[in-house]
Formats: sequence, C-alpha cells, structure tokens
Amino acid sequence: MSVMTSFEFLDKVIRATPDGEYIRKCLQCGTCSGICPYGFAMDHPPRSLIAALRADDWHGVLESDTIWLCVSCFACASVCPVKIPLTRGLLATLKTEMLVGGSIPQELQTALSNSRRYGNALGESPRKRADWTKDFTVPVPILANHKEPVDVLWFVGDYGSYHPRVQLVTKAMAKVLHVLRVNFGILGPEESSDGDTQAFTGEWGLFELLARKNAKAMAKYTFKEILTADPHAYNALKYEYPRLGLNFPVKHHTQFLLEHIGQLGSWLKNRGPMRVTYHDPCYLGRANENNIYEEPRQLLQAIPGVELVEMSHNRALSICCGGGGGGMWLDGFSWEKTGTRTSEWRVREAIAAGADVLAVACPYETPRFEDAVKSTGNEGKLVVKDVVELLAEAAFG
Ligand code: SF4
Ligand code: SF4
Repeated sequence: MSVMTSFEFLDKVIRATPDGEYIRKCLQCGTCSGICPYGFAMDHPPRSLIAALRADDWHGVLESDTIWLCVSCFACASVCPVKIPLTRGLLATLKTEMLVGGSIPQELQTALSNSRRYGNALGESPRKRADWTKDFTVPVPILANHKEPVDVLWFVGDYGSYHPRVQLVTKAMAKVLHVLRVNFGILGPEESSDGDTQAFTGEWGLFELLARKNAKAMAKYTFKEILTADPHAYNALKYEYPRLGLNFPVKHHTQFLLEHIGQLGSWLKNRGPMRVTYHDPCYLGRANENNIYEEPRQLLQAIPGVELVEMSHNRALSICCGGGGGGMWLDGFSWEKTGTRTSEWRVREAIAAGADVLAVACPYETPRFEDAVKSTGNEGKLVVKDVVELLAEAAFG
C-alpha cells in the first residue's frame, strides 16, 4: 500500500482543484457527513476523513473500502459552509489512491477495464454503437458517411447507444430532432465514453484517454455545438475536457429543447391528466453549480395536462439516484455494505408526492428507477420517463 504520508496526500488534494486550499479551513461541523446519502455506512464520511488526515491516521483511511460508497453526488460540497471542493478534490483523489493501491471492488474493475478496452463501460463492441439506428424510421446521419457540415453534433453516450431501455429515450430524442428539422449528426462507432464517471472513480488517466479519443473524432467534423442527453457527458465536455485544452460548446437536451419550445409547443397535445414529479440529476444541478433546475420543469409544464408536483428533496437538495461516481457499476458492493438503495428512497418520495410519473433527465436514471419501482412494489403506480420521452409522447402519441 501507499508510502505517502497524510500530509503529502493533503498536498495532492489541494493541487487537484481550484480552491483546494480551502480544505485547511474545515470547521468540522459535520454538515457534509450529514447530507451524504451513504454517510451512515462510511467508515470515514467527509468530516471524519478530514479529521483522520489531520490526526495523520492515513493508514486507517486506506484500510477501509467504504470510500467506494461515494457516488460523487456533490451534496457534501454544495452544503459546506467554507466551500471546500470535496467531491472533485478530497473524494476523487482518495479514490485514485485506492485504485493505485489495488483496493477496488471487482465490479468496478470490470467496468473500468471495459472502458479501456472497448471505449464503453458496458463492454459492448464499438462497431455496434450505432446499431440502434438500424431499422429505425427516423434518419440519423452518421458523420463519417454524411460528408456535410452539421449544426449539431449529438453525443449519444454509452447508455443511450447500448442500453435497451435508454435506447427508447435516444429514439424519442431523434424523433424530436427530426420534427424540429435540426441539422444533426452522430459520431456512431467513432464515439467513446465521455469518461466523466471513470474520472470520478479516480481513474483520471483513463478519462484523459477517452477524452482525447473523442476530441480527435470530433475534430474531423464541422459543427456548431454538441448536444447530449447525458448530464455526465455535459459535465465532462463543459468542465473537464477544457482542462486538457479540448474546448467544445455543449448543451444538455433540456436546455436545447427549451430553446425550441416555441416550435415544439405547437405539436404538444393533451393526452390526459398527469401528475409528474421531476428528479434533479446531480450533474445538471449541484455539480459545478450547473443549476439547471428550471429548464426541465418548464418543458414539463409546456405539456398540456401536466401537473408538476415536487418531491421533498428537490433542486440542490435532490438525492442521487445512486449511479454517479461509479455507483452505476457498484450496485452489488453498495447493497452488501448498506442493504438499501437511494433509487428506492426516491421512488418512495415520488409516490408520497402523489406523482404518477417520475420524470428524469439522465440515462442512468430510467433503468435505475424502473428497477426501484419494481423492488418497492410500486409497479402500476409510477411510470419512469425521460423528459424527452414525455415530450415525444405528447407530440406524436
Ligand atoms: S461541511 Fe465543510 S466545514 Fe463542515 S465538516 Fe464538512 S468539510 Fe468541514
Ligand atoms: S459526493 Fe455525495 S456520496 Fe460522495 S461523500 Fe459527498 S455527499 Fe457523500
């Protein structure tokens, strides 16, 4: 294991982020540990981690594997009164140290190996990345075959490309782009994972490999902006790629669709009353203070018949679906350590709010919440849909 001292590690943490130095100002107030969804099961939630570092109990920190419960949800960083960048700094840096020391759950190791080998965490063939477009009624240009400049490069992402449930969201997005007459194209087999979640597991080397591969593919084509339905890709392209000198303008699909709501709105029909609640994804809201809270709500309210209701945790206080920071690939580990799932907490909150639809805006969320609807015995009471699916259903039936 590491021969680094806790003080050397602290220097590394400070160098990892702008304002990293703020870690020295920690008040030991415990707000971070209190808000952490898995703080109750961590040997060292953020406050105690800083205390252990101050006490030079570094080896005690490294002996615990519960840092892998951290879903990089930015809740701790967002409430810290002295604004310590905990998620991007302390927690991601500790994960890197754990990786270097070989202390990593097998299921996460598999996802990272797949990402390195195939360019996606699911271990799918890169050649099949655009297979969802085959036999699909809407034309989806693949840039390598298109030969023309486009306005929008649509970054589809791993789950949007390969996961059967999330492909339905992708197809809804394609239909909406088509009806809006957007001049777009996708990278298809040239696209790799955006790398954001790999980075927040501490694998920054792999992140850089994936980012440079994507940037090389993107640089071959002429486009004005990148569109993505994935908040993790949005976050990576907006904040992490520029740290490598890779600069691309990017919009999340909720921002893009709201810009086009004047045109899209004329297509939306009332298909019956719906009580909809919206789950704020961590990487649209708290991460990097993106604060994309109102755009998805405005889209939902543009659908005739929708009544928007709020869960008790919403906007900056939203609870992670459990998929971030590698959580998507650590379900077995998290269950073994905690015996609970944050996705199930959210489904219960949605039911308590009186919703019959749980609207989402991240590809991790549709499958996670649909599983949670089943495991909490709420089948038939709550439907999970991406915002763009609800728009497409209101427009096209
Ligand atoms: S919230 Fe901030 S100041 Fe309070 S214990 Fe956590 S890191 Fe320290
Ligand atoms: S980022 Fe989220 S899961 Fe990780 S320590 Fe902070 S609050 Fe807990």
